[in-house]
Amino acid sequence: MHRRDFIKKSAGLAALAGASPFADLASVAAAETPARRKTIGIQIGAVSFVDEGTDKVLDILQERGAVDTVYLTTFTYGRGLAGRQIPGQPFPDHGAQESDEKTFHGGNYATPHAEFYRDTVLKQTRAPEHGDLDIVANVLPAAQKRGMRVFCSIEDVFRSDAPGVKELTEVDLQGRQAGGLCLCHPDVRAFWTGLATDLCKSYDIDGILFFNERNGPLLNALGASHAQSIASSRVTCFCEHHQRAAKERGIDFERARQGYQKLDQFIQAALKGQRPSDGYFVEFWRLLVEWPEIIAWDRLFDAAKHQVLAEVNAAVKRVRPGLQVGFHIEHVNSFNPIFRATRNYAELATMADFLKVVVYNNCGGERYANFIRNVGSTAFRDVPKEELLRFNNRLLNYGDEATLDELATAGLSPGYVFRETQRALAGVQGKCKVLPGIDIGIPTGAKSRKASPEDTYAAVAAALKAGADGLILSRKYSEMRLENLKAAGRAVRDSQKG
Ligand SMILES: [Zn+2]
Repeated sequence: MHRRDFIKKSAGLAALAGASPFADLASVAAAETPARRKTIGIQIGAVSFVDEGTDKVLDILQERGAVDTVYLTTFTYGRGLAGRQIPGQPFPDHGAQESDEKTFHGGNYATPHAEFYRDTVLKQTRAPEHGDLDIVANVLPAAQKRGMRVFCSIEDVFRSDAPGVKELTEVDLQGRQAGGLCLCHPDVRAFWTGLATDLCKSYDIDGILFFNERNGPLLNALGASHAQSIASSRVTCFCEHHQRAAKERGIDFERARQGYQKLDQFIQAALKGQRPSDGYFVEFWRLLVEWPEIIAWDRLFDAAKHQVLAEVNAAVKRVRPGLQVGFHIEHVNSFNPIFRATRNYAELATMADFLKVVVYNNCGGERYANFIRNVGSTAFRDVPKEELLRFNNRLLNYGDEATLDELATAGLSPGYVFRETQRALAGVQGKCKVLPGIDIGIPTGAKSRKASPEDTYAAVAAALKAGADGLILSRKYSEMRLENLKAAGRAVRDSQKG
């Protein structure tokens, strides 16, 4: 379809959004759904509907993927959830076969309504790349007509040139402006609650899925997430709002700063192989013992991150208690025991209706190997990395996964998906639903594991067998090959047959 025709048609569909004649049909279908039925969702961005046509895409999702819920990327400046295939990666077998590298911008793919952004400087976030198209108004009636549910995915990823962003950025250890937005800043908090309220009030959606993959200063210093470099000199946030929050909690700002400077010195020396006389791990642990403010400041980051989640949840429930809120639990929670210790599933369950727990097994191999190499070059430098991997596997209750050298090409096993799903289910203690995020074609390095229909089938089957309440096919449709999507759908249907 020509883009102009598409937009014209979208405007017509948008007009239908408020009063869909099929809305009643959809709720009847939902009411008749057996209680045990699992919800099968997929993450998808605006560009896929623009490139391939709304109804055609929904047909594919339903028929091939057995999908009943659309997690529609509505706010982000990031390419993980929005845009076509990321540059440098092969295109899947559908959609436009041309990179959107030059046209991709990001922002709000729905229509921001000014009254919801009064208390924030982040007023102009409209994504420009699809003209006047409002993706929620476009997709919602078409999905509802089919009895599909629609959630708006919103993600904490910004671009530095978006209006207002520069006023809200974090401050790093050395007093420099950093890239992320400070989660303690009142304008940032007002933005998230404003955005969630806007989407829930302006559209007849089913709820919100909130993404925030940002880490606190301790993990960033160690490079202890997946795709991270070790950035101990650039940790955040030491801004005035954080100083105030620290004071309220009785945390000494100056000591926190000094603690992170000591940690930075330790990390930089470790990277050069300058072994402390007591060994790397002992010196690292000693820093934490002598400078407890290091942990306290990291906790402060998590507190702000979870405060935003709690506020988004409350804002959504204020619009309508039946609306659902989900929280994306990032991959590092799976393979980093230090991070795991800071994520209490039962506590998170009190702030959300469901947790999307990342159990990406193909890219998981590459990411886990990167994590081991990073922590193995600083705090655990005395341990040969292969041994460190085996030891960490035990800590995490992983099965017999591949060796470090083979991990990226082998990926993680379906057993990993099963175990991580069960851990999350045990953790939430029935207080919220667990929807594992299944990896379908998440980009990896040239020689690393790529999704196959067999992998995808096995991962979906493992998650469902473990007792998941459903799943979310990830990261985005514009990365997925249709044969893999079809394999996911086949696994879902086979599991429904029992
Ligand atoms: Zn701050």
